[in-house]
Amino acid sequence: MKNQRQSIPTAQRYSIHDFERQFPDNDACLEHVKERRWPNGVTLCEKCERECKHYRVTGRTAYACEFCGNHIYPLAGTIFEKTTTPLRSWFHAMFLMGATRCGISAKQIQREIVVTYKTAWRMAKQIRLLMAEEIKLEGSSVEMDESYYGPKRRRGSKKGRPSASDPKKTCVVGIVERKGRVVALVSTDATKQTLHGIAKERIMPESVIFTDDYASYNGLENEGYTHRRINHSAGVYVLGETHTQSIDGFWSLTKNGIRGVYHSVSKKYLQTYLNEYSFRYNRRETPVPMFISLLSLACQTGEWTQPSASADQSLPASMTEPDEPF
Ligand SMILES: [Zn+2]
Repeated sequence: MKNQRQSIPTAQRYSIHDFERQFPDNDACLEHVKERRWPNGVTLCEKCERECKHYRVTGRTAYACEFCGNHIYPLAGTIFEKTTTPLRSWFHAMFLMGATRCGISAKQIQREIVVTYKTAWRMAKQIRLLMAEEIKLEGSSVEMDESYYGPKRRRGSKKGRPSASDPKKTCVVGIVERKGRVVALVSTDATKQTLHGIAKERIMPESVIFTDDYASYNGLENEGYTHRRINHSAGVYVLGETHTQSIDGFWSLTKNGIRGVYHSVSKKYLQTYLNEYSFRYNRRETPVPMFISLLSLACQTGEWTQPSASADQSLPASMTEPDEPF
């Protein structure tokens, strides 16, 4: 975990003062999005087909062509498209989410930005969408491990892997390149078929895969990998190069973060939280502050799909998604 700590200063290089200076108001935020999409204030007008300047339309999130007056909307297609929340609040929320090492609760965002809990929760959820990455690992040595997310079991109850039918536990699968990036996925189960499928999809052929001695990993060597396993059930955790300490470290970071910051996360949204922790982990050594990475993703257009767009209409009245009630 040493590297994690050393990387904090890079994340702090973009301070709240930098943020306030660069983004004093909504107009500055909108201008930034426009500049990212159409640099130097010049864009091709779709209507008169001229490359020309577009000027801000007062009172709207639009710019107008200097010749024909046709409007363009920088927020169209971004995560901000349909929002009624001020753009600067969104930027501020991204700043807060980027400034933390272990996550930030919607309650905390609510307090800092002074918005309703519902707004804070929705902003955080949308910002997490930016953090979903389709990563194919390229490291030649990777560690793979499955784990279970859910409330702690009562003392005295059965230890070890929960049964597949345990409704309180969700299976998650993680793969990490040594000294590199991580992929963490919610999985339907931890069968051999599922785990091998994930491995083939995410791990380069001929890589060395380190796992524990769980039976579902049997046969990875037949998929073209070199398979090294550590006998956890016999109490062995490190044998030279053979260990799963990188992925174990990621799991403890994620689980402690979720438990400490969010308290509990529903199965439906667990993947988005895994995305958040992976995103942060995968940038732990880059000099680019996380806020800047988020901002540049936010200026892109995309299919910002979410686990269920309709389901959260009920929030937070029903509080069916107890994000972090404190
Ligand atoms: Zn025009």
